[in-house]
Amino acid sequence: MNGPLHHDVLIVGGGNAGISLAAKLRRDGCRDVAVIEPKAVHEYRPMLSYVAGGMATLEDLRRPQADVIPPGVRWYRDAVSGIDPERSAVQLATGTELTFTDLVVCPGSQVDWDAIPGAQAAVSTVRASTSYVPEPAVDTWTMLSGLVAGTAVFAISDRHVPCAPVGLKPLFLAADHWRAKGLLDAITIELVVESDRLVDLERSDHDLRAIAAGYGIRVRTGAVLESVDAASSTLRIRTPAGPDELRYDALYLAPPHRAPGWVAGSGLASPTSEGFLAVDPRTLQHVDHPTVWGLGDVATVDALPSGGALRKQVPVVAHNIAARRTGATMRTYDGYSIAPVTTSRRELLLAEFDRDGRPEPTMRVPDLARPRRSLLVFDRYVEPQVYWRRLLRGKVS
Ligand SMILES: Cc1cc2nc3c(=O)[nH]c(=O)nc-3n(C[C@H](O)[C@H](O)[C@H](O)COP(=O)(O)OP(=O)(O)OC[C@H]3O[C@@H](n4cnc5c(N)ncnc54)[C@H](O)[C@@H]3O)c2cc1C
Repeated sequence: MNGPLHHDVLIVGGGNAGISLAAKLRRDGCRDVAVIEPKAVHEYRPMLSYVAGGMATLEDLRRPQADVIPPGVRWYRDAVSGIDPERSAVQLATGTELTFTDLVVCPGSQVDWDAIPGAQAAVSTVRASTSYVPEPAVDTWTMLSGLVAGTAVFAISDRHVPCAPVGLKPLFLAADHWRAKGLLDAITIELVVESDRLVDLERSDHDLRAIAAGYGIRVRTGAVLESVDAASSTLRIRTPAGPDELRYDALYLAPPHRAPGWVAGSGLASPTSEGFLAVDPRTLQHVDHPTVWGLGDVATVDALPSGGALRKQVPVVAHNIAARRTGATMRTYDGYSIAPVTTSRRELLLAEFDRDGRPEPTMRVPDLARPRRSLLVFDRYVEPQVYWRRLLRGKVS
């Protein structure tokens, strides 16, 4: 009888994290790398914000998964249903079992519609939408660009939302559109943000509030969206000043996210990790199982999850897998993350910070935290090419 298939490094999830890491490991000389990924199409998710802002299409962000699997990497087109870390074994939905020497868990996170009663039903109507799921991202711009009067509410959760401040992109792209059309006086814009800050960098938080004020946007921070009633187009929020109810003509949501249920079901979460993969935020090694690693949106890295963060996390995991085997010193991830926010249809600012909210600019000159035209062009047109040609090919150090 055949035993289970074994791989030296087995990676769960072929998204940004999984493909970048697989390619990096191959570059570093690892001979046996396999990726488990059920989807036939790979998506460059940051482009969804531009789809929601009417500046891109879904075709712009999709490529066949087969085209991004690095040469020499085995692809299992399957979904993981459970992991047995004690036996170093992974169960696939089709019933196959794989074993590993080291396992990297990076299946991302998914929208937690249950967290806001009524939100999912609302998003299926023409008055509410989100950029955090591909098809509604297209509908977001149809909804926002079609609004000529009334109230537009933008609600951004801080519960595990990937790169949450980019929820401000559709807001400012729409506000600038409404200004150009002479509609700003006819539209009341409400911004409801669960976090105390718009972004975890003090200077950019201050600047974005000033930009919001320039559009006449009412900003409430520390405000939690509790429920949505699509039938009456109203929503309930809890703010530091007390509960409130808002009527909306257009509602944009950056909704709470959760980890896949099998992470906790496999004993890989911790009592405090809310179902997310419990790793040491610095070494990215699992807190209980030294041959299990995690990065990306599923991992408890004590930092804003983002693609930018992965540029730093991928080399750390690649190095530390080898270091565990040789006894070399491990590298650490400092919590670097990014928030690129369009401030109009012409300009974007890039906030870069560590897990303590300290600025961590990639370059001092020019000042990337100041809104610039060149930054918007880079984020919309150049960065996707960097993603396909460099990041997914493991060209990170
Ligand atoms: C709307 C939006 C805008 C964003 N904008 C930006 C931005 O401007 N800048 C930035 O830096 N970041 C941005 N991000 C964040 C960035 O896209 C994520 O942080 C990044 O994609 C995380 O990579 P990941 O590999 O952890 O997860 P993902 O990229 O989500 O990949 C996870 C993969 O795992 C697979 N998977 C799921 N379940 C299983 C299973 N059971 N078995 C096997 N495979 C499985 C999925 O199919 C998927 O392919 C944005 C995200 C969104 C949603």
